[in-house]
Amino acid sequence: MVPCLSKPRAMFPATPSPLGTFVLVLILCIVGFYTVNQPHSFPPSFTSHNASYFRHMFLSSSSNSTIASYLRDLTQHPHLAGTKLGSDTARYVLNHFRDLGLQTHTAKYEALLSYPLHSSLSAHFSDGSCSEFLLGEMVQTNQADPDVVPPYHAYSPSGSAYAKAAFVNYGRDEDYRALGMLGVNVSGCIVMARKGGGLTRGAVVEKAEAYGAVAVLIYADRDGFGKGFERGHVLRGIGDPLTPGWAGVDGGESLDLEDSEVLKRFPKIPSMPLSTEIAETILHSLVGTELPQEWKSSLGSNVRLTHVGPGPTMLNFTYQGEKKVATIENVFAVIKGSEESDRFVLLGNHRDAWTYGAVDPSSGTAALLDIARRFSLLLHSGWTPRRTVILCSWDAEEFGMIGSTEWVEQNLVNLGSQAVAYLNVDCAVQGPGFFAGATPQLDDLILEVTEKVKDPDAEGAVLYENWAADGNSNILRLSGLDSDFAPFVQHAGVPSVDLYYGKDFPVYHTAFDSYDWMTQYGDPFFQRHVAVAGVWGLLALHLADDPILPFNYHSYVDQLQAYRNRLRNFLDQSISLQPLTSSIQDFASAVKEFDEELNAARLQEAVDCFVHSKRRALNDRLMLAEKGFLDPHGLRERNWFKHLVFGPPSDHESKMDFFPGVADSIAWSATSSEKEGRAAIRHEIWKVARAIKKAASALRGEFM
Ligand SMILES: [Zn+2]
Repeated sequence: MVPCLSKPRAMFPATPSPLGTFVLVLILCIVGFYTVNQPHSFPPSFTSHNASYFRHMFLSSSSNSTIASYLRDLTQHPHLAGTKLGSDTARYVLNHFRDLGLQTHTAKYEALLSYPLHSSLSAHFSDGSCSEFLLGEMVQTNQADPDVVPPYHAYSPSGSAYAKAAFVNYGRDEDYRALGMLGVNVSGCIVMARKGGGLTRGAVVEKAEAYGAVAVLIYADRDGFGKGFERGHVLRGIGDPLTPGWAGVDGGESLDLEDSEVLKRFPKIPSMPLSTEIAETILHSLVGTELPQEWKSSLGSNVRLTHVGPGPTMLNFTYQGEKKVATIENVFAVIKGSEESDRFVLLGNHRDAWTYGAVDPSSGTAALLDIARRFSLLLHSGWTPRRTVILCSWDAEEFGMIGSTEWVEQNLVNLGSQAVAYLNVDCAVQGPGFFAGATPQLDDLILEVTEKVKDPDAEGAVLYENWAADGNSNILRLSGLDSDFAPFVQHAGVPSVDLYYGKDFPVYHTAFDSYDWMTQYGDPFFQRHVAVAGVWGLLALHLADDPILPFNYHSYVDQLQAYRNRLRNFLDQSISLQPLTSSIQDFASAVKEFDEELNAARLQEAVDCFVHSKRRALNDRLMLAEKGFLDPHGLRERNWFKHLVFGPPSDHESKMDFFPGVADSIAWSATSSEKEGRAAIRHEIWKVARAIKKAASALRGEFM
C-alpha cells in the first residue's frame, strides 16, 4: 500500500548553542502560553451536555511546551521493559494520572524477556590485519551510557561462530536465489543483511537459518547516524512465549522453556545488529562474486560495496544472552462514563523503550500524558463522557507486544462485547507527514477530525487540507504486527486506529533516539506532537460522547470490494470468487438498510431523544459487526490470529496484506498437489465469505 503524501518542510535548525537552546525554550513557553486558552473564553451558553463545547475546549487547551516537558522527563534515562528504570517510568506515568485526580490501576504480568550478557565481533582481513569492533554507541562525551542496553536482538540464542562473511542484500528468498544463480552458497557463512526489503528482523534471521547461515548480522543505512545500532526482537509471533493465548499472571499456568510450543518461537542461529560504519568496513573488504546488478541501484550512499564474498574476510562473532522471566506492568487511567459506563473507548501507547526512546515510544507517551491533562481539565469543567474512556500505557511492546497482548488475552470476553474502539499511538512523531491506519468503519471519523486540527507544517491550514482534501488520504490498514493495535484487531476484533507523524527515522531503536534528536530534527517546536494529540483526543471524544457511534461501514464495503478485486490477481480464473462477491453484496445491503433505519428513526425524533434501549441496540450492532470477521478457530496452524480480513500472511514475502487465511492457502498450494491446493484456497475463500455474512447479520441485529 502506498503511504499517504508526506511533504518534508525545512524545520531542521542547526545544532543549537546554549543560547539557541534558551531561545528555543523561550519560544516554546510563549507558543505554549498562547495555545493554552482558559475555559472561560468560550460562550457562556454551553450546557454540561454540550459535547462540541468540550471538543473545542480540548483543542484549545493544547500546549506544546507541556508536551515538551513530559518528553524531557520521560527521556532522562533509558526505560527498557523489566528493568528498574523501566518500572520507574511506570511510576512516573501512574503518578501523573493520579496527580490529575484520575482513577488508576495497574496490571502486572510475569513474562519471558531477553537481555544480552556479552557480545564480541572481530574481522580478520585477507592482508593479515584484524579489527575488533566496538559494539555500542558513544552518546555522551565519547562514553557509552551504562544504562543503555548494548546492541542485541532479544531472544537470539547464545552462540559463537568463526566463518566467512557474505552479503545477502535484504535477506529475502529472491536475494538468495540471485546469489544461487551466481553460484554463491552462503551455507556455513556469517551472513550480513541490510534492512529495508520488507521483511521483519525475525524473518531475515529465519530465512538465513533456512539457507544454512551460521549467524546473521543486520544493519540499516542511516543517513548521518552511521554509528547507531538498531536493537529489536527476533521472536516469531507476538505475546509472551510462555503463555501462548492466555495471560501470564503471577501464579498462573506457564509453559516450560523447553516446550516445543515455546521453542518454535525462537530462532536457532545467533544474530545481532551492526552499525552502518562497521557493516561498511566489513562489506568493503569482501571479494569473490561481484554484486548482482539489480542490488547496486538500491544501495545506500553510506555503503561502498562491490562484491558479495563469501570472504575472504573471516568474522569471529560471539553473542551470549539470557532469557529471563521478569515483571512487566501496564498502567491505566479510567474516566468512567455517565450513561454507558460498560462501553469502553481505549487509547493506548507503549511505554517501554530500547534506549531513551524519545521517538519510540515516548513521543506517544508524552501525547498520552497531555491528553490526560486535558481530559482532566474537561472533567473539572463539568464534562462526563457518555462512555468510559481508558488511557492505557503498555509495557514490553518492544519484546513482541507483550503487555498489550497479555491484557487483551486476559480481557477477551469483556473487550469483545464492550470495547467500542482502540486508538493506538506508538511513535507519535518521527518527522514530517501525517499517517493514519484504521479498520475501515473509522475512516470517515478520521477524515472529519483532521478538518478540526491545525496542520503543524502549513500556516493557517488544517491537517485535512494537505493530507486528504485531494480525496487521497490513503488510510492504511492494520494487517501488520507493528504495534499494540495487533492484538486488538487481529485477536479480539476491536475497531482500531493507529496514528503517527513521519516514518523511517534514522535513529530508530538506537541510543541516539533522544530528546536532543527530537528537538533538533523530529519536531523542534512540538507542533506535530500537538497535532497527533489533537487527532487522537478528538477521535476519543467523538467515540465516547456521540450518541450514535461514528462508524461508517460503507468504507468497509469499499475496502472488501477492493480486496476481492486484488485477490483476482493472485489466482487463476478457475477459482471462483462468487462466494465473496455475493457476501459483499449482502454486507452492502445490510449497511444500506442500517442507514435507512437510522435515518428513519432520526426523522421521527432527535437521536438524543431516542430511548436509551433503542440507541443502545443500534450502537451494539455497529460495535459487534466487526466481530463477524473473526473466526473463533483462528487461522490454520496459527490459531491465535482470528481476523479473516486483517492479519499478516505467514509467508513473509507474500504481497497479500489482506485475507490472511487465503494468503496462507495460496502459499501452501505452491507445495501441495494441484487438487489439494485448489481445495484449500476455495475453503479459505468460503470462510471469508461466511465471515462477511456474519458481519452483515450482526449489523442487521436479526437472526437468519
Ligand atoms: Zn514503539
